[in-house]
Parts: sequence; C-alpha cells; structure tokens
Amino acid sequence: MEYKSIAIDGPSGAGKSTMAKALATRLGFLYVDTGAIYRTLGLFALDNGADPGDWNQVEPLLPQVSIRMDYADDGLQHMYLGERDVTEVIRRPEISDAASKISAIPEVRAFLMGMQRDMAKSHHVVMDGRDIGTVVLPEADVKIFLTASPEERAGRRHTELQGRGTPVDYETVLADIIERDARDSGRSAAPLKQAEDAVLIDTTGVTLEESFQLLLQTVQEHMA
Ligand code: C5P
Repeated sequence: MEYKSIAIDGPSGAGKSTMAKALATRLGFLYVDTGAIYRTLGLFALDNGADPGDWNQVEPLLPQVSIRMDYADDGLQHMYLGERDVTEVIRRPEISDAASKISAIPEVRAFLMGMQRDMAKSHHVVMDGRDIGTVVLPEADVKIFLTASPEERAGRRHTELQGRGTPVDYETVLADIIERDARDSGRSAAPLKQAEDAVLIDTTGVTLEESFQLLLQTVQEHMA
C-alpha cells in the first residue's frame, strides 16, 4: 500500500503541533511529533549527567537508550524512555533546550532518522519537525512551512506554559525562542529551512481557526 505523508516544518512555537494534530484528525492520518523524539533523548542525556551538546558525552549513551512511541486510544502520541512514560516531562523548558542542543549533533540525527521514516512507511502521516520536508521525507506528498513572528510565537508559548501550570515570564520565553531559532537555523546538520517545494503559511496576526482553514485548503489542493 502506498502511504501518504504531509510534512510540516517551521520554527518553535509556530503552532505546528496544534495544526498538525488537527489536520491528522481531520484526514484520519497519524500525527507524528518528531520534536518529542529529540526531547526524549535530551531528557535521557540530562538524566545521565551528560551535556546534550557534547557528542563525546552523548555517544556512549546511545547503545543504552530505549525510546518508544505509542499511541493512546485518543490518538495522543506518548513517548517512553524504557518503561517510563515521559510525555509530560519532556515539555519542560530545560528539555526544550536540551533537545535543541542534542539535535544539532549530526550523529544523533542519523540515529533517530530510521524511527521517523519507519512511521511514514507504515501509516498515512502528518509529521512535524524542522527537517521533515528537506531530509526525513523529501518525497512527502505535501510540504508546509509554518511560521509566525518571534513575538507572536513567544506570546503563544507563554500562554501555553501558563495553561500547563508551569509559567515562565514572557521575556524569558522570547529570549529562548530567539536563541533556539538561531541554533536550529544556524546548525550545519539539517538546519531549519523551508524546502524549495514547501508552501509557506505565516500565521502572524491570524487566528488558529483561520490558519487551520488555510492549511486544510492548501493540503486538499495539493493532494487532489
Ligand atoms: O518541535 P519541538 O520544539 O518539540 O522540538 C524540540 C527541538 O528539537 C527543536 O528546538 C529542534 O532543535 C529539535 N528538532 C529538530 N528536528 C526535528 C524536530 C525537532 O532538530 N525534526
């Protein structure tokens, strides 16, 4: 069977996960959040006292790590480190930072590539990340590059963290977003960039509902 894939890339806080999840539900596809995979490995590095940005410290850990993705009845992607469900823990700001650092290591990206591609070989997927359209699924049926201004993204992330009961002040969130953007775009291994054949959707000043309609329309046009 030929499986369909939709790649959604873009910077942190652009609304990728919310939109990708809604799109997957609408189309009956599986939603794959690849950032969660990097976050899980980042958590493992921190738990083991390793600097996630230092390959020499991360390399010895890779043979021991067991990362697994599983889907709950509600379609929610759960991440497991061994037997431990880390789905919530990996959302913490220090894990965002660890994920951003560990994902800049080329060997780490290669190590996690198979897991991502395998999902697309066995399911119709909406996959979000930074390099899905450029590296992981270059043959994706539709590629979207979703973005918004750093200030808008910081505002959304600020509200989200408050909602999760882990508030962080706006200025800190904005500084973190700017730093992660620079690291994700500036790295030599699979930098964050728009694929040549991706459709750009800028959601600055656009409501979630309007953005979703635009996304859905774009996807339907390209899949037709
Ligand atoms: O998407 P999310 O913010 O959860 O991703 C956490 C970090 O993982 C990002 O800042 C980015 O550095 C990295 N990442 C990546 N490639 C992906 C997904 C995430 O480098 N496909």
